[in-house]
Amino acid sequence: MPTDVASLLFALTVSMLTMAVALPSVMGRVNMAARRAQLGIFLQAAGWVLLLISGLVEAGSWTDRTLSTLSMAGIAGGLALNATAFDLWCGRTALARAPTIIAVVLTLGYGIGFSSYAFRVGWANGLLALQMAMVAATLWREPLLPVGRWRWLLVVALMAQMVVTAWRGVLGAFFTDQFPAFLTPHPVNIAFALVANATAVLSLTGILLAHRDEAARALDRLATYDDLTGVLNRRAWLVQSNIELENSVRYDTPLAVLMLDIDYFKRVNDSRGHEAGDRALKFLARALQAAVRSGDIVGRYGGEEFCVLLKQADHAAAKAFDQRMRAYLAEATLRELGHEMTYSAGIAIRTSADDTLEAMLRRADVMLYSAKAQGRSRTLDAQGKPLLQEETA
Ligand code: GH3
Ligand code: MG
Ligand code: MG
Repeated sequence: MPTDVASLLFALTVSMLTMAVALPSVMGRVNMAARRAQLGIFLQAAGWVLLLISGLVEAGSWTDRTLSTLSMAGIAGGLALNATAFDLWCGRTALARAPTIIAVVLTLGYGIGFSSYAFRVGWANGLLALQMAMVAATLWREPLLPVGRWRWLLVVALMAQMVVTAWRGVLGAFFTDQFPAFLTPHPVNIAFALVANATAVLSLTGILLAHRDEAARALDRLATYDDLTGVLNRRAWLVQSNIELENSVRYDTPLAVLMLDIDYFKRVNDSRGHEAGDRALKFLARALQAAVRSGDIVGRYGGEEFCVLLKQADHAAAKAFDQRMRAYLAEATLRELGHEMTYSAGIAIRTSADDTLEAMLRRADVMLYSAKAQGRSRTLDAQGKPLLQEETA
Protein backbone atom coordinates (compact mmCIF):
# COMPACT_ATOMS: atom_id res chain seq x y z
CA MET A 1 0.00 0.00 0.00
CA PRO A 2 1.53 3.34 -0.98
CA THR A 3 2.07 5.57 2.04
CA ASP A 4 3.50 9.02 1.60
CA VAL A 5 4.77 11.20 4.40
CA ALA A 6 2.99 14.33 3.21
CA SER A 7 -0.48 12.74 3.39
CA LEU A 8 0.24 11.16 6.76
CA LEU A 9 1.42 14.45 8.25
CA PHE A 10 -1.51 16.27 6.70
CA ALA A 11 -3.88 13.72 8.29
CA LEU A 12 -2.07 14.16 11.62
CA THR A 13 -2.55 17.92 11.44
CA VAL A 14 -6.25 17.51 10.67
CA SER A 15 -6.60 15.11 13.65
CA MET A 16 -4.76 17.48 15.98
CA LEU A 17 -6.94 20.40 14.86
CA THR A 18 -10.05 18.28 15.36
CA MET A 19 -8.86 17.41 18.89
CA ALA A 20 -8.08 21.06 19.61
CA VAL A 21 -11.66 22.00 18.75
CA ALA A 22 -13.40 18.87 20.05
CA LEU A 23 -11.80 18.68 23.52
CA PRO A 24 -12.99 22.08 24.81
CA SER A 25 -16.39 21.50 23.20
CA VAL A 26 -17.08 18.14 24.85
CA MET A 27 -15.35 18.64 28.19
CA GLY A 28 -17.46 21.62 29.28
CA ARG A 29 -16.40 23.52 32.40
CA VAL A 30 -13.03 22.15 33.46
CA ASN A 31 -10.36 22.73 36.07
CA MET A 32 -6.79 23.90 35.55
CA ALA A 33 -5.34 20.51 34.59
CA ALA A 34 -7.85 19.89 31.82
CA ARG A 35 -7.53 23.46 30.58
CA ARG A 36 -3.77 23.01 30.30
CA ALA A 37 -4.25 19.74 28.44
CA GLN A 38 -6.61 21.41 25.99
CA LEU A 39 -4.30 24.36 25.46
CA GLY A 40 -1.36 21.98 25.02
CA ILE A 41 -3.18 20.12 22.24
CA PHE A 42 -4.17 23.43 20.67
CA LEU A 43 -0.54 24.61 20.64
CA GLN A 44 0.64 21.33 19.13
CA ALA A 45 -2.04 21.52 16.44
CA ALA A 46 -1.04 25.13 15.69
CA GLY A 47 2.59 23.97 15.51
CA TRP A 48 1.75 21.34 12.93
CA VAL A 49 -0.28 23.80 10.86
CA LEU A 50 2.66 26.23 10.82
CA LEU A 51 5.08 23.45 9.92
CA LEU A 52 2.97 22.45 6.92
CA ILE A 53 2.59 26.07 5.83
CA SER A 54 6.35 26.58 6.13
CA GLY A 55 6.68 23.90 3.44
CA LEU A 56 4.77 26.13 1.03
CA VAL A 57 7.05 29.16 1.30
CA GLU A 58 10.51 29.60 -0.21
CA ALA A 59 12.81 27.11 1.50
CA GLY A 60 15.43 28.74 3.74
CA SER A 61 13.80 32.19 3.57
CA TRP A 62 13.12 34.31 6.66
CA THR A 63 9.44 33.43 6.37
CA ASP A 64 10.40 29.75 6.41
CA ARG A 65 12.67 30.32 9.43
CA THR A 66 9.99 32.27 11.33
CA LEU A 67 7.15 29.85 10.58
CA SER A 68 9.28 26.79 11.33
CA THR A 69 10.63 28.25 14.58
CA LEU A 70 7.13 29.20 15.72
CA SER A 71 6.00 25.71 14.82
CA MET A 72 8.70 24.22 17.07
CA ALA A 73 7.57 26.54 19.87
CA GLY A 74 4.01 25.26 19.40
CA ILE A 75 4.88 21.57 19.32
CA ALA A 76 7.43 21.59 22.18
CA GLY A 77 5.52 24.19 24.22
CA GLY A 78 2.29 22.24 23.75
CA LEU A 79 3.91 19.04 24.98
CA ALA A 80 5.34 20.87 28.02
CA LEU A 81 1.90 22.27 28.78
CA ASN A 82 0.38 18.81 28.48
CA ALA A 83 3.06 17.57 30.87
CA THR A 84 1.98 20.13 33.47
CA ALA A 85 -1.57 18.79 33.12
CA PHE A 86 -0.35 15.21 33.67
CA ASP A 87 1.57 16.40 36.76
CA LEU A 88 -1.57 17.98 38.19
CA TRP A 89 -3.61 14.87 37.43
CA CYS A 90 -1.02 12.77 39.28
CA GLY A 91 -1.22 15.09 42.30
CA ARG A 92 2.18 16.74 41.79
CA THR A 93 2.90 20.41 42.24
CA ALA A 94 6.35 20.74 40.61
CA LEU A 95 4.92 21.36 37.19
CA ALA A 96 7.02 19.97 34.31
CA ARG A 97 9.97 22.29 34.80
CA ALA A 98 12.44 20.30 32.69
CA PRO A 99 10.09 19.84 29.68
CA THR A 100 9.35 23.57 29.78
CA ILE A 101 13.03 24.50 29.83
CA ILE A 102 13.64 22.07 26.94
CA ALA A 103 10.84 23.72 24.92
CA VAL A 104 12.45 27.15 25.35
CA VAL A 105 16.00 25.95 24.58
CA LEU A 106 14.76 23.94 21.59
CA THR A 107 12.94 26.90 20.07
CA LEU A 108 15.82 29.35 20.55
CA GLY A 109 18.48 26.97 19.22
CA TYR A 110 16.31 26.03 16.26
CA GLY A 111 15.73 29.66 15.29
CA ILE A 112 19.41 30.51 15.59
CA GLY A 113 20.76 27.42 13.80
CA PHE A 114 17.97 27.23 11.21
CA SER A 115 20.25 27.72 8.21
CA SER A 116 21.91 24.32 8.78
CA TYR A 117 19.42 21.56 7.87
CA ALA A 118 21.44 18.82 9.61
CA PHE A 119 21.72 20.89 12.79
CA ARG A 120 18.08 21.90 13.01
CA VAL A 121 16.71 18.41 12.30
CA GLY A 122 19.11 16.83 14.80
CA TRP A 123 18.53 19.55 17.41
CA ALA A 124 14.75 19.67 17.19
CA ASN A 125 14.16 15.93 17.03
CA GLY A 126 16.82 15.15 19.63
CA LEU A 127 15.41 17.61 22.16
CA LEU A 128 11.80 16.63 21.42
CA ALA A 129 12.75 12.99 22.05
CA LEU A 130 14.41 14.02 25.33
CA GLN A 131 11.31 15.98 26.29
CA MET A 132 9.07 12.98 25.55
CA ALA A 133 11.34 10.72 27.60
CA MET A 134 11.15 13.08 30.59
CA VAL A 135 7.37 13.37 30.40
CA ALA A 136 7.08 9.57 30.11
CA ALA A 137 9.45 9.11 33.08
CA THR A 138 7.37 11.45 35.26
CA LEU A 139 4.20 9.59 34.30
CA TRP A 140 5.94 6.32 35.12
CA ARG A 141 6.72 7.43 38.66
CA GLU A 142 4.18 6.42 41.29
CA PRO A 143 1.47 9.14 41.27
CA LEU A 144 0.62 10.91 44.52
CA LEU A 145 -3.08 10.27 43.88
CA PRO A 146 -4.81 7.04 42.96
CA VAL A 147 -5.03 7.34 39.17
CA GLY A 148 -6.24 4.95 36.50
CA ARG A 149 -4.49 3.18 33.67
CA TRP A 150 -4.56 6.25 31.41
CA ARG A 151 -1.04 7.11 32.47
CA TRP A 152 0.26 3.86 30.93
CA LEU A 153 -1.54 4.73 27.71
CA LEU A 154 0.34 8.02 27.67
CA VAL A 155 3.64 6.38 28.63
CA VAL A 156 3.30 3.97 25.67
CA ALA A 157 2.37 6.83 23.31
CA LEU A 158 5.30 8.96 24.45
CA MET A 159 7.85 6.14 24.30
CA ALA A 160 6.79 5.13 20.79
CA GLN A 161 6.98 8.74 19.68
CA MET A 162 10.32 9.17 21.40
CA VAL A 163 11.92 6.24 19.56
CA VAL A 164 10.93 7.38 16.07
CA THR A 165 11.64 11.03 16.81
CA ALA A 166 15.12 10.29 18.13
CA TRP A 167 15.83 8.03 15.18
CA ARG A 168 14.69 10.74 12.80
CA GLY A 169 16.98 13.23 14.56
CA VAL A 170 19.98 10.91 14.23
CA LEU A 171 19.25 10.38 10.53
CA GLY A 172 18.89 14.10 9.86
CA ALA A 173 21.99 15.10 11.79
CA PHE A 174 24.44 12.33 10.93
CA PHE A 175 23.06 10.54 7.84
CA THR A 176 21.68 13.61 6.14
CA ASP A 177 21.97 12.11 2.66
CA GLN A 178 19.43 9.43 3.65
CA PHE A 179 17.05 12.00 5.07
CA PRO A 180 17.66 15.17 3.06
CA ALA A 181 14.20 16.74 3.37
CA PHE A 182 11.16 16.96 5.64
CA LEU A 183 9.05 14.72 3.38
CA THR A 184 11.73 12.14 2.39
CA PRO A 185 10.02 8.72 2.12
CA HIS A 186 12.65 7.04 4.31
CA PRO A 187 11.14 4.15 6.32
CA VAL A 188 11.96 5.92 9.59
CA ASN A 189 10.20 9.08 8.42
CA ILE A 190 7.17 7.03 7.35
CA ALA A 191 7.24 5.23 10.71
CA PHE A 192 7.43 8.64 12.42
CA ALA A 193 4.36 9.89 10.57
CA LEU A 194 2.42 6.68 11.26
CA VAL A 195 3.33 6.62 14.94
CA ALA A 196 2.42 10.30 15.28
CA ASN A 197 -1.07 9.51 13.95
CA ALA A 198 -1.49 6.55 16.27
CA THR A 199 -0.21 8.40 19.32
CA ALA A 200 -2.56 11.31 18.65
CA VAL A 201 -5.43 8.86 19.18
CA LEU A 202 -3.78 7.42 22.31
CA SER A 203 -3.15 10.90 23.72
CA LEU A 204 -6.74 11.96 23.12
CA THR A 205 -7.98 8.83 24.88
CA GLY A 206 -5.47 9.31 27.71
CA ILE A 207 -6.50 12.91 28.28
CA LEU A 208 -10.20 12.08 28.30
CA LEU A 209 -9.66 9.18 30.72
CA ALA A 210 -7.51 11.33 33.01
CA HIS A 211 -10.25 13.94 32.99
CA ARG A 212 -12.88 11.30 33.79
CA ASP A 213 -10.68 9.97 36.60
CA GLU A 214 -10.54 13.38 38.12
CA ALA A 215 -14.28 13.96 37.76
CA ALA A 216 -14.85 10.64 39.56
CA ARG A 217 -12.49 11.73 42.37
CA ALA A 218 -14.31 15.04 42.67
CA LEU A 219 -17.67 13.23 42.91
CA ASP A 220 -16.21 10.93 45.53
CA ARG A 221 -15.01 13.93 47.54
CA LEU A 222 -18.43 15.54 47.26
CA ALA A 223 -20.11 12.35 48.42
CA THR A 224 -17.75 11.94 51.39
CA TYR A 225 -16.86 15.34 52.77
CA ASP A 226 -18.86 18.29 53.93
CA ASP A 227 -18.29 21.09 51.48
CA LEU A 228 -18.13 23.91 54.01
CA THR A 229 -16.04 22.44 56.82
CA GLY A 230 -14.08 19.71 55.06
CA VAL A 231 -14.91 17.09 57.71
CA LEU A 232 -16.86 13.93 56.81
CA ASN A 233 -20.51 14.38 56.00
CA ARG A 234 -23.17 12.49 57.92
CA ARG A 235 -23.35 9.52 55.55
CA ALA A 236 -19.58 9.01 55.40
CA TRP A 237 -19.25 9.50 59.16
CA LEU A 238 -21.83 6.78 59.75
CA VAL A 239 -20.12 4.39 57.32
CA GLN A 240 -16.65 4.88 58.82
CA SER A 241 -17.90 4.89 62.40
CA ASN A 242 -19.78 1.64 61.89
CA ILE A 243 -16.53 0.00 60.83
CA GLU A 244 -14.86 1.25 64.02
CA LEU A 245 -17.78 0.04 66.09
CA GLU A 246 -17.35 -3.45 64.62
CA ASN A 247 -13.63 -3.35 65.40
CA SER A 248 -14.36 -2.22 68.92
CA VAL A 249 -16.68 -5.21 69.43
CA ARG A 250 -14.22 -7.65 67.81
CA TYR A 251 -11.24 -6.53 69.92
CA ASP A 252 -13.34 -5.67 72.95
CA THR A 253 -12.06 -2.12 73.23
CA PRO A 254 -14.10 0.79 74.56
CA LEU A 255 -15.66 3.27 72.15
CA ALA A 256 -17.31 6.63 72.73
CA VAL A 257 -19.45 8.94 70.64
CA LEU A 258 -19.72 12.62 71.42
CA MET A 259 -22.50 14.58 69.78
CA LEU A 260 -22.28 18.35 70.06
CA ASP A 261 -24.33 21.33 69.03
CA ILE A 262 -23.21 24.96 69.08
CA ASP A 263 -25.04 27.11 71.62
CA TYR A 264 -27.16 29.99 70.37
CA PHE A 265 -25.71 29.68 66.92
CA LYS A 266 -28.69 31.39 65.38
CA ARG A 267 -27.60 34.56 67.17
CA VAL A 268 -24.23 34.45 65.40
CA ASN A 269 -25.98 34.33 62.05
CA ASP A 270 -28.54 36.93 63.02
CA SER A 271 -26.18 39.48 64.55
CA ARG A 272 -23.02 38.93 62.50
CA GLY A 273 -24.28 37.50 59.26
CA HIS A 274 -24.26 34.12 57.61
CA GLU A 275 -20.61 34.40 56.62
CA ALA A 276 -19.56 34.81 60.24
CA GLY A 277 -21.66 31.72 60.97
CA ASP A 278 -19.88 29.79 58.26
CA ARG A 279 -16.51 30.92 59.60
CA ALA A 280 -17.47 29.72 63.06
CA LEU A 281 -18.49 26.32 61.71
CA LYS A 282 -15.19 25.93 59.87
CA PHE A 283 -13.30 27.01 62.96
CA LEU A 284 -15.10 24.47 65.14
CA ALA A 285 -14.49 21.69 62.61
CA ARG A 286 -10.76 22.50 62.52
CA ALA A 287 -10.63 22.64 66.30
CA LEU A 288 -12.32 19.25 66.57
CA GLN A 289 -9.91 17.69 64.12
CA ALA A 290 -6.97 19.15 65.97
CA ALA A 291 -8.25 17.90 69.33
CA VAL A 292 -8.97 14.28 68.36
CA ARG A 293 -6.39 11.52 68.35
CA SER A 294 -5.41 10.04 65.05
CA GLY A 295 -7.98 7.46 63.98
CA ASP A 296 -10.87 9.26 65.69
CA ILE A 297 -13.61 10.31 63.29
CA VAL A 298 -15.09 13.79 63.07
CA GLY A 299 -18.23 14.43 61.04
CA ARG A 300 -20.74 17.19 60.48
CA TYR A 301 -24.02 15.61 61.40
CA GLY A 302 -26.08 18.50 60.12
CA GLY A 303 -26.36 22.31 60.54
CA GLU A 304 -24.26 23.23 63.58
CA GLU A 305 -24.21 19.72 64.98
CA PHE A 306 -21.07 17.58 64.90
CA CYS A 307 -20.33 14.01 65.89
CA VAL A 308 -17.01 12.64 67.03
CA LEU A 309 -16.26 8.96 67.29
CA LEU A 310 -13.51 8.40 69.86
CA LYS A 311 -11.64 5.15 69.36
CA GLN A 312 -10.45 3.15 72.34
CA ALA A 313 -12.08 5.79 74.49
CA ASP A 314 -13.74 5.12 77.83
CA HIS A 315 -15.49 7.67 79.97
CA ALA A 316 -12.20 9.27 81.12
CA ALA A 317 -10.87 9.61 77.58
CA ALA A 318 -14.11 11.17 76.32
CA LYS A 319 -14.01 13.55 79.25
CA ALA A 320 -10.41 14.50 78.48
CA PHE A 321 -11.32 15.21 74.86
CA ASP A 322 -14.25 17.36 75.89
CA GLN A 323 -12.08 19.32 78.30
CA ARG A 324 -9.41 19.91 75.67
CA MET A 325 -12.03 21.24 73.29
CA ARG A 326 -13.67 23.52 75.84
CA ALA A 327 -10.35 24.88 77.04
CA TYR A 328 -9.30 25.62 73.47
CA LEU A 329 -12.58 27.32 72.57
CA ALA A 330 -12.50 29.42 75.74
CA GLU A 331 -9.01 30.55 74.87
CA ALA A 332 -9.31 30.96 71.10
CA THR A 333 -12.82 31.86 69.91
CA LEU A 334 -12.76 35.54 70.88
CA ARG A 335 -9.36 35.96 69.23
CA GLU A 336 -10.13 33.98 66.09
CA LEU A 337 -13.82 34.75 65.54
CA GLY A 338 -14.39 38.02 67.40
CA HIS A 339 -17.06 36.44 69.60
CA GLU A 340 -17.31 33.69 72.16
CA MET A 341 -18.73 30.32 71.27
CA THR A 342 -19.66 27.33 73.40
CA TYR A 343 -21.33 24.07 72.72
CA SER A 344 -23.48 21.54 74.48
CA ALA A 345 -22.82 17.86 74.09
CA GLY A 346 -23.84 14.37 75.02
CA ILE A 347 -21.67 11.32 75.36
CA ALA A 348 -22.54 7.70 74.72
CA ILE A 349 -20.21 4.81 75.54
CA ARG A 350 -20.58 1.44 73.82
CA THR A 351 -22.33 -0.77 76.36
CA SER A 352 -22.47 -4.29 74.97
CA ALA A 353 -21.49 -6.38 71.95
CA ASP A 354 -24.82 -5.70 70.28
CA ASP A 355 -24.93 -1.97 70.91
CA THR A 356 -25.42 -0.10 67.63
CA LEU A 357 -24.29 3.25 66.37
CA GLU A 358 -27.91 4.33 65.97
CA ALA A 359 -28.63 3.49 69.61
CA MET A 360 -25.47 5.28 70.76
CA LEU A 361 -26.41 8.35 68.75
CA ARG A 362 -29.89 8.30 70.24
CA ARG A 363 -28.44 8.18 73.75
CA ALA A 364 -25.94 10.93 72.99
CA ASP A 365 -28.74 13.03 71.53
CA VAL A 366 -30.86 12.64 74.68
CA MET A 367 -27.87 13.80 76.75
CA LEU A 368 -27.27 16.70 74.39
CA TYR A 369 -30.90 17.74 74.71
CA SER A 370 -30.61 17.62 78.52
CA ALA A 371 -27.39 19.65 78.39
CA LYS A 372 -29.28 22.34 76.48
CA ALA A 373 -32.16 22.19 78.94
CA GLN A 374 -29.79 22.50 81.92
CA GLY A 375 -28.40 25.78 80.62
CA ARG A 376 -26.04 24.90 77.73
CA SER A 377 -22.22 25.05 77.56
CA ARG A 378 -21.88 21.64 79.16
CA THR A 379 -21.43 18.00 78.32
CA LEU A 380 -23.44 15.25 79.90
CA ASP A 381 -21.87 11.84 80.19
CA ALA A 382 -23.57 8.53 79.53
CA GLN A 383 -25.17 8.63 82.98
CA GLY A 384 -26.42 12.17 82.49
CA LYS A 385 -23.84 13.74 84.78
CA PRO A 386 -22.34 17.05 83.64
CA LEU A 387 -18.62 16.57 83.03
CA LEU A 388 -17.22 19.93 83.98
CA GLN A 389 -19.31 20.35 87.12
CA GLU A 390 -18.20 16.93 88.23
CA GLU A 391 -14.63 18.09 87.61
CA THR A 392 -14.89 21.35 89.55
CA ALA A 393 -16.97 19.88 92.39
P1 GH3 B 1 -29.28 26.16 70.69
O1 GH3 B 1 -28.34 26.66 71.71
O2 GH3 B 1 -30.58 25.72 71.25
O3 GH3 B 1 -28.66 25.09 69.85
O4 GH3 B 1 -29.60 27.40 69.75
P2 GH3 B 1 -29.18 27.56 68.25
O5 GH3 B 1 -29.49 28.97 67.88
O6 GH3 B 1 -27.79 27.13 68.04
O7 GH3 B 1 -30.08 26.47 67.58
P3 GH3 B 1 -31.00 26.45 66.31
O8 GH3 B 1 -31.20 25.03 65.96
O9 GH3 B 1 -32.24 27.28 66.57
O10 GH3 B 1 -30.17 27.17 65.17
C1 GH3 B 1 -29.24 26.52 64.41
C2 GH3 B 1 -28.86 27.51 63.36
O11 GH3 B 1 -27.75 27.00 62.60
C3 GH3 B 1 -29.95 27.76 62.36
C4 GH3 B 1 -29.27 27.79 61.02
O12 GH3 B 1 -29.48 28.99 60.39
C5 GH3 B 1 -27.80 27.67 61.38
N1 GH3 B 1 -27.05 26.93 60.38
C6 GH3 B 1 -27.21 25.64 60.02
N2 GH3 B 1 -26.33 25.33 59.02
C7 GH3 B 1 -25.60 26.45 58.77
C8 GH3 B 1 -24.56 26.77 57.85
O13 GH3 B 1 -24.08 25.95 57.06
N3 GH3 B 1 -24.05 28.02 57.89
C9 GH3 B 1 -24.54 28.97 58.75
N4 GH3 B 1 -23.99 30.19 58.75
N5 GH3 B 1 -25.53 28.69 59.61
C10 GH3 B 1 -26.06 27.47 59.62
MG1 MG C 1 -27.35 25.10 68.32
MG1 MG D 1 -28.92 22.44 66.27
